[in-house]
Amino acid sequence: MTEIPQERRVVTAIPGPKSVELQARRLETVAAGVGSTLPVFTARAGGGIIEDVDGNRLIDLGSGIAVTSVGASAEAVVRRASAQLADFTHTCFMVTPYEGYVEVCEQLAELTPGDHAKKSALFNSGAEAVENAVKIARVHTKRTAVVVFDHGYHGRTNLTMALTAKNMPYKQGFGPFAPEVYRVPVAYGYRWPTGAENAGAEASAQAIDQINKQIGAENVAAIIIEPVLGEGGFIEPAKGFLPAIAQFAKDNGIVFVADEIQSGFCRTGQWFACEDEGIVPDLITTAKGIAGGLPLSAVTGRAEIMDSAHSGGLGGTYGGNPVACAGALGAIETMRELDLNGKARRIEEVMKGRLAEMQSKLDNGDIIGDIRGRGAMIAIELVKSGTKDPNPQAAADLAKACHAEGVLVLTCGTYGNVLRFLPPLVIGEDLLNEALDVIEQAFGRI
Ligand SMILES: *Cc1c(COP(=O)(O)O)cnc(C)c1O
Repeated sequence: MTEIPQERRVVTAIPGPKSVELQARRLETVAAGVGSTLPVFTARAGGGIIEDVDGNRLIDLGSGIAVTSVGASAEAVVRRASAQLADFTHTCFMVTPYEGYVEVCEQLAELTPGDHAKKSALFNSGAEAVENAVKIARVHTKRTAVVVFDHGYHGRTNLTMALTAKNMPYKQGFGPFAPEVYRVPVAYGYRWPTGAENAGAEASAQAIDQINKQIGAENVAAIIIEPVLGEGGFIEPAKGFLPAIAQFAKDNGIVFVADEIQSGFCRTGQWFACEDEGIVPDLITTAKGIAGGLPLSAVTGRAEIMDSAHSGGLGGTYGGNPVACAGALGAIETMRELDLNGKARRIEEVMKGRLAEMQSKLDNGDIIGDIRGRGAMIAIELVKSGTKDPNPQAAADLAKACHAEGVLVLTCGTYGNVLRFLPPLVIGEDLLNEALDVIEQAFGRI
């Protein structure tokens, strides 16, 4: 395994000449619908660094969208996945099973909230996990309606497009969408009309009222929510909101699904973000951080709900691929050994401290309307000076300025005005502080 020096290095323009050449080839042959945040082609990556084909070393504050929490070449992931690769690449778990799949399900039962009997099924992508959670909830409840929330994101397949709130770019032109999907308000504290302190109680009351009046609770199979909303802008539902919705689901025989695909696996400083308010979901969907970069996802939940589907009703050719399972076991081993929950909490402390300082001391610091998130899932919501009007231009300009200096950041949010930070949890503190220096300087350039 190659050890990449953990230092930022900018030796060409970004993107450099070799990346520009590859980008030209890519534009000839890769469909235009598949975009890239930064057309810098990767040579290798690990720890907190992405090294490109021109020899630049970028500080990674994206983790490939919250995936490489243990780094992009974590020792235990590489070791276990390589060994598995040499033994066999695939048999199909539905044809002849293998131990790695079972071990991942055992780990999921142990790590997810609640001490009830749990079972899991493994898939390839986050969207596929969400789709299967809906299948399981429907067959279990014999009901059809699915409730999701404003600003929610659940994927790009047909059903998960319907579940996703934001039209552009996820849904525009791709309909018609799956039926029996209903969207209700979420407690977005920063933008709640009567203030963040009222958001939890008022939004949950509104959501519950809409479910009762517009759908009928007895028709609802599942309520699906991200405990920290990801693509929608790193929105932490105001305190009290999640417990109220979970209780309502319980009282009405509705399957409560926590979509922890982005927020799970140490990202927020706990194994799962829903633990923060003591929520025990009926089902939990995981993917992204689970396997150190290999494609794997899961639905985990109450054994009696998971077992509602008949044999052969769930699965897929590649679901729970043995190499991906080996990667997951390596990633989980790394999370435990390096206490990545503790690391995530330290990242929050460092980042929130520095960002608050920028907000108060920089000339244009007041465009930082809100600093939020938990663990290594931190964001700033950018607004026009002296207002709460979304400022997507500032988010785009800041991202561009950071990229030019070798710091990879991502944007998100319903209004495109959120700069989000998702460093690998193994990033060194010096490197993190250097990235924050670059972000601070970027404010001077916009
Ligand atoms: C990324 C994401 C998905 C979709 O996962 P894919 O692997 O891209 O299909 C679903 N839900 C949440 C919360 C996500 O962040």
